[in-house]
Amino acid sequence: MSPTQHYGVAVVGGGPVGMLLAAELGLHGVRTVVLERHPETVDQPKAGTLHARTVQSLARRGHLPTRRGGRLDQVATTAFHFAGMPGLTIGAPAVEGQPIAGRSQADLERAFERNARDLGVEIRRGHDVVALTQDPRQVEITAEHGDGRRTTLTADYVVGADGARSTVRALAGIRSEEHPPRVAALLGQVRLLDPEGTPPGWNLTPRGWTVINVNPFGYSRVITFDFTGPHADRHAPVTLDELRSTASRIAGHDIPMTDAVFTSRFSDYTRLVHRYRDGRVLLAGDAAHVHFPVGGQGLNLGLQDALNLGWKLALAVRGHAGKDLLDTYHDERHPAGRRVIDNTRAQLALMRPGEETEPLRALFAELLRLDQVGAYLGDMISAQDTAYPSRGGSPWQGRFLPNLPLEIDGADSCVADVLHPGRPVLLLFGDAGEEYARTAAAWGHVVDAVRARAPRPLPWDALLLRPDGYVAWAPPSARADVPDGLRAALREWFGEAADGR
Ligand SMILES: Cc1cc2nc3c(=O)[nH]c(=O)nc-3n(C[C@H](O)[C@H](O)[C@H](O)COP(=O)(O)OP(=O)(O)OC[C@H]3O[C@@H](n4cnc5c(N)ncnc54)[C@H](O)[C@@H]3O)c2cc1C
Repeated sequence: MSPTQHYGVAVVGGGPVGMLLAAELGLHGVRTVVLERHPETVDQPKAGTLHARTVQSLARRGHLPTRRGGRLDQVATTAFHFAGMPGLTIGAPAVEGQPIAGRSQADLERAFERNARDLGVEIRRGHDVVALTQDPRQVEITAEHGDGRRTTLTADYVVGADGARSTVRALAGIRSEEHPPRVAALLGQVRLLDPEGTPPGWNLTPRGWTVINVNPFGYSRVITFDFTGPHADRHAPVTLDELRSTASRIAGHDIPMTDAVFTSRFSDYTRLVHRYRDGRVLLAGDAAHVHFPVGGQGLNLGLQDALNLGWKLALAVRGHAGKDLLDTYHDERHPAGRRVIDNTRAQLALMRPGEETEPLRALFAELLRLDQVGAYLGDMISAQDTAYPSRGGSPWQGRFLPNLPLEIDGADSCVADVLHPGRPVLLLFGDAGEEYARTAAAWGHVVDAVRARAPRPLPWDALLLRPDGYVAWAPPSARADVPDGLRAALREWFGEAADGR
């Protein structure tokens, strides 16, 4: 095997999750290759909603603009829905900007790909991965090209970001919890011939749901949810006639349409893998979790996987990872996947048409109006309730740090800006002791120490931030174990100090 064919990481699947992960690895200078089956980005109407935690996380890496100004104690809100019921308000700290951003999945994918290429990642399109074996030292994978030729390469780690029907998952023998489909859904981009007579938005009838973005001037997105049973053939092409007759039957009147530019069928088939990691093989995005796309959470969940995994893999490849760092990927992201799987199944149960669910929906609609309930569900859908297990010490550990305004070297800055380079950061506030900086200096090859001023007093004088914006370490209230607590945390996350102390 030629040495040029060995990579730090091979990412299988260049969808949005694979491309974002590749960009993260490129940022850390990891020799990375993406193997993608399609010769170019496929423009399909799929995800279009970026929820608050994704918006906040992408801003921390410069993929979305950073919000300037805004007050820590103010909340920005956007109206959303729960199980198709209006009345849910998603709120996020005003210092983070609006809680929801609209971006098409294909646009995101292209932007991440450009970014990854600029950072030196090799993107090999037209490569369909067909074989994978791992041993304790490396993983070997084989990809088939359209012309029947094959490429074999090796990598320290392989990430399967190859979507719901993941080949990597199957080849690695990673098992899953599965729930068979019970709902048949159709989607189409069509021209509506009677836009005024078409029910706009989310509509429940005794026969199912229509979800229609009525656009009288161009193409409209028509979605139907039919609860009478799963698709007889999940892979059969959807015809305009099938979409029209299903939408019309569910609505209870004809919904004339023409000129379908895109159609697809999907279902509520649900999967969550038991393990996100098997040795040198890891899974991210739809390869690890699939669920009904209610609430627009799937892509968001996958992008968060990529942001959680990228820096950990980079440290592992470079030999600067703490002993269990790679295992924290499963420990942190599996519960996040579980939460979305469970909430989408709960939403679907509430959406089932029929007399027996009506009182339940009515009760839920009332509950949604309660501030606390709305905030709880809003934080769940937008993943702002995501916190990772604390490794002891301060309750701040594992929490996402809001975008605090900061002053650094006399210039205005903020938490999001500080994280742009993708490195862990030790923030030293005000008169934080030299002992912190001296301790962190021994991990200077991994961690940047940054002195900052905040406009108001903060509960800590130092804070170790992970590249994904979560707190890795905060001083406990008792200062007794400083800097020992910081040293232990640095060792736990990033392995031994450069000076071996
Ligand atoms: C109708 C619909 C609406 C949705 N709306 C939303 C929404 O609003 N918000 C949201 O967050 N989510 C939404 N989702 C979910 C979202 O689209 C997915 O979660 C997202 O596509 C997952 O991205 P991914 O990169 O993990 O997988 P994919 O997008 O499936 O990408 C996988 C890539 O791997 C490639 N690949 C597969 N096998 C191989 C192989 N063997 N070798 C090489 N390459 C391979 C594929 O070609 C593909 O490019 C929606 C889904 C649907 C169906």
